[in-house]
Amino acid sequence: MASKLTFDTDWTYAPAPEGTANVKLEKRYGLFINGRFTEPKSGKYFRTISPSTEKKLADVADAGPDDVDRAVKAARRAYDTVWSKMKPSERGKYIFRIARIVQERSREFAVIESMDGGKPIRESRDVDVPLAAAHFFYYAGWADKLDYAFPGKSPRALGVAGQVIPWNFPLLMAAWKIAPALATGNTVVLKPAETTPLTALKLAEVIAEADLPPGVVNIVTGAGETGAALVNHPGINKIAFTGSTAVGKKIQSDLAGTGKKFTLELGGKAANIVFEDAPIDQAVEGIINAIFFNQGHVCCAGSRLLVQESIATSLVQKLKDRMETLIVGDPLDKNTDVGAINSRMQLKKIEYYLKLGREEGADMYQPACTLPEKGFWCRPTLFDHASQSHRIVQEEIFGPVLTIQTFRTAEEAIEKANNTPFGLSGGVWTDKGAKIFEMTSRLRAGVIWANTFNKFDPGSPFGGYKESGLGREGGMHGLLPYLSLN
Ligand code: NAP
Ligand code: MG
Repeated sequence: MASKLTFDTDWTYAPAPEGTANVKLEKRYGLFINGRFTEPKSGKYFRTISPSTEKKLADVADAGPDDVDRAVKAARRAYDTVWSKMKPSERGKYIFRIARIVQERSREFAVIESMDGGKPIRESRDVDVPLAAAHFFYYAGWADKLDYAFPGKSPRALGVAGQVIPWNFPLLMAAWKIAPALATGNTVVLKPAETTPLTALKLAEVIAEADLPPGVVNIVTGAGETGAALVNHPGINKIAFTGSTAVGKKIQSDLAGTGKKFTLELGGKAANIVFEDAPIDQAVEGIINAIFFNQGHVCCAGSRLLVQESIATSLVQKLKDRMETLIVGDPLDKNTDVGAINSRMQLKKIEYYLKLGREEGADMYQPACTLPEKGFWCRPTLFDHASQSHRIVQEEIFGPVLTIQTFRTAEEAIEKANNTPFGLSGGVWTDKGAKIFEMTSRLRAGVIWANTFNKFDPGSPFGGYKESGLGREGGMHGLLPYLSLN
């Protein structure tokens, strides 16, 4: 008789923490204006902490309106006197240099990103930092080829770009913003998010090391008021904002009638649609990656699963089994799948939606993992039997929370997928190429993945429909918002 194979399901991984010895953080960071760190005129500083330990990492300057004004003036001076006069191929060399230094210091960047923001080191190491370097490389290549990007036009820089970014991909968002601005000949004032300023400040060190002329890139840290001061500064020609739909709407109304060009990359509520003919085990991995990747702190996260009714029971069971094996904990451990929630405030918001989902009548499921005592944590969560009118289906939660609905026909899947105020991204899982093309042409979303999810490339444009934003970043499309073509 063949012996029966048995598995000990109670095994665990030994801890594999990434070292922090090569990370050098200052106790206190000033504002990066005109090529060097300076004290804030406001005299104020705030703390940035690690969300996994709640320990302070550094004090960071809180830029007031006078500081923002200094930064914008430095950017204008650099634009007028140096950057707008430089040969495009020379500009490109500086951007290539930034890309190379980010690559050389990638480990340090990855560790700091995980410490300051709470995301697993595997993601900051394999996704955030390499993609940030790739964006600088990609746009460096465009610097002297703008005439080919827009044949028959005369592309010209706009001047000073004001850029405001969120906390979910701090270094990557800084790269998305700074690289195309510099390649098109603009100068920059960037404001990172209050809870994750450290990699942007490290990037300031890289920019100084790359010998970029003073004032071409300025980095002013602070909270929402600093962002508002930047958006409303009259010396800015273009605003690039990534963040929530609520703040995006406020910025759009602030900018009305000012003549400033702007792009808004806002929230999302992506549908991940799985047909009965899909490769189910691959789809399970894809669904897990789409929503639990980076704790669901992803604007394009696949937060709504739409599964064909015939396979719903088995798929949901497979998802639950897979969720039991997810490792939640120390972001610096290389085995960790799900790290810390970025801030206490964000954790409270997610917990509000967990309570709401139960009240709305969906069936909540969480794996039995133990959570660390200190820090901000949320178990990966799914809500089965959610319905289209539930607020957990309609509103962006921005956490590791998946809602599940079923459908019978492709028509019904499209109807449900499109029926939210957002339209940033989506996913389709099926064996049939024709079905993929049919679905992608009818889904109202800026980015749609087929039989995969959350894959990015600097050459491909990114942006939303409806309340997910205006304009595109990435690829050749990402040059246009920084140029005048007349
Ligand atoms: P948020 O609250 O809108 O903040 C985004 C940035 O704007 C932060 O730097 C913030 O400062 C600043 N800010 C706040 N109020 C402002 C104002 N009145 N004027 C100017 N700036 C202001 O968003 P978040 O919570 O940080 O980020 C999560 C959101 O970003 C989600 O909705 C997500 O979907 C979206 N997101 C979208 C994309 C995309 O490409 N579509 C990518 C990533 C994230 P402080 O936070 O420092 O106070
Ligand atoms: Mg922090």
